[in-house]
Amino acid sequence: MVLTVRQDSKPSNHPLWRDGHQSLNLPALDSPLEVDVAIVGGGFSGLWSAFHLLGQDSSLSIAIFESEEIGFGASGRNGGWVSSDYPVDPVTLKERHPEADIETFWDLMRSAIDEIGDFASTCAPEANFRKAGSLVFARNKAQLHRIESNLFGKKRLLGPSETQSMLKVDGVIGSIFDPDCATVEPYPLVLALARHLLAHGVAIFERSEAQLENNSMKVNGHRIKSKQRIIATEAYKKPSRRQIPIYSLMIATSPLTREQQAMVSNVPGLAFLEALHNVNYAQMTSDGRIAIGGRGARYPYGSRLRSSKEEQGSVHDQISQLVEEWFPQLGQWKVTHKWGGPVAVRWNWESYLFFDPLTQTGSIGGYVGDGVTMSYLSAKALADRMLGGNRFLKMPFVENQARKWPIEPFRFIGANALVSLVKCADQEERLTQRESLIYKGASLLIGK
Ligand SMILES: Cc1cc2nc3c(=O)[nH]c(=O)nc-3n(C[C@H](O)[C@H](O)[C@H](O)COP(=O)(O)OP(=O)(O)OC[C@H]3O[C@@H](n4cnc5c(N)ncnc54)[C@H](O)[C@@H]3O)c2cc1C
Repeated sequence: MVLTVRQDSKPSNHPLWRDGHQSLNLPALDSPLEVDVAIVGGGFSGLWSAFHLLGQDSSLSIAIFESEEIGFGASGRNGGWVSSDYPVDPVTLKERHPEADIETFWDLMRSAIDEIGDFASTCAPEANFRKAGSLVFARNKAQLHRIESNLFGKKRLLGPSETQSMLKVDGVIGSIFDPDCATVEPYPLVLALARHLLAHGVAIFERSEAQLENNSMKVNGHRIKSKQRIIATEAYKKPSRRQIPIYSLMIATSPLTREQQAMVSNVPGLAFLEALHNVNYAQMTSDGRIAIGGRGARYPYGSRLRSSKEEQGSVHDQISQLVEEWFPQLGQWKVTHKWGGPVAVRWNWESYLFFDPLTQTGSIGGYVGDGVTMSYLSAKALADRMLGGNRFLKMPFVENQARKWPIEPFRFIGANALVSLVKCADQEERLTQRESLIYKGASLLIGK
């Protein structure tokens, strides 16, 4: 296995979350190294893995290698939803896995949100972790029907006026409120986590690209000797049929005035989205901006990462348009930040944790756009497994094998047909008020 991270060039886009925060500027590796555990990838997956390993055995020597800088990937750029969402819907999940295991899985996800919150409140107050729940709202009957069928656990169905009392969305006809969701500013959280690990003796190297071949690891050309290894590189992998990169893009508005903020919501920290097929997600930041993201960028041929995909003006415009449609009462506002990043999608749209006892190498990822909580839980499960435990073996993501994506040009055609068709499906639902037939057909193209 050869690991590569290079995309065509560095992104010029700028996540809001980086404002006012300096990168850590850690040294690059410049000599051979021997450690107990070598971790590749300085995002949430790699960092939480070190955190959980140390939590179980503080005597371990651990090194993390990041080819760019800590938080360079999706972990420093995401929408800040700390949710129990999983990219596969609960009904399909229960068809694929034993029901009792899925119930345990949801419990672990919900606890993970609070555990991240505990860390954030003690070590990263600047990340503004706020657990105020999420609101998935419907603006047509097809959307309402869909969200009603997704009602389980502590989720509650709200009528139009109850919804409006939390979020003043134009044309809303109902919503689902899930108390088990928080929002956070991700980049300061990643930095605080890295600082915490440094303070506990973990060695972290930036601008240090790892290459793993025939079970031997080199970083910046220097040999790394380790008893165990973790690969936590998510979307930044050598192109293959095992996963494809899908781009998610975001914008942030300028800070709204107090009057404008009250026209949107009076629930600080609420996460919200419209139940469209085209994925979208939003929060109002602690300084009163709307930070909102969505999909819609085209899949790059051959699964090659392309930073140009992170800056597609038409997708950023569609996302801004959602703010206009949802909150026409706002009047004047402008977009101050635009950015994006890749997420990894396997054919079955599920996350994975693999651990090979022979080579003592573990890997986690495949979170699609739901990796903030999942990376914490996967890292916890991997640490347990690597230290000989078996607490998480029945979780759906553990040793979860997926079919490979079709060869090109079929996956290019399928993935991009889906990108176009979901927009048509949303349009169809707006017009007919019935669940989209286009979407049902489109799902077959991409393994959902
Ligand atoms: C725009 C956007 C919005 C999102 N919004 C949400 C959200 O609101 N909620 C949610 O739950 N999830 C969201 N996600 C997904 C979530 O951010 C990710 O699933 C999660 O951050 C993945 O963390 P990670 O550590 O696995 O990967 P990453 O953060 O991508 O880290 C992987 C790191 O590995 C490094 N690397 C790769 N190859 C090598 C190598 N050979 N040597 C050394 N280093 C290497 C990369 O440089 C990178 O920094 C979003 C993603 C995007 C892009």
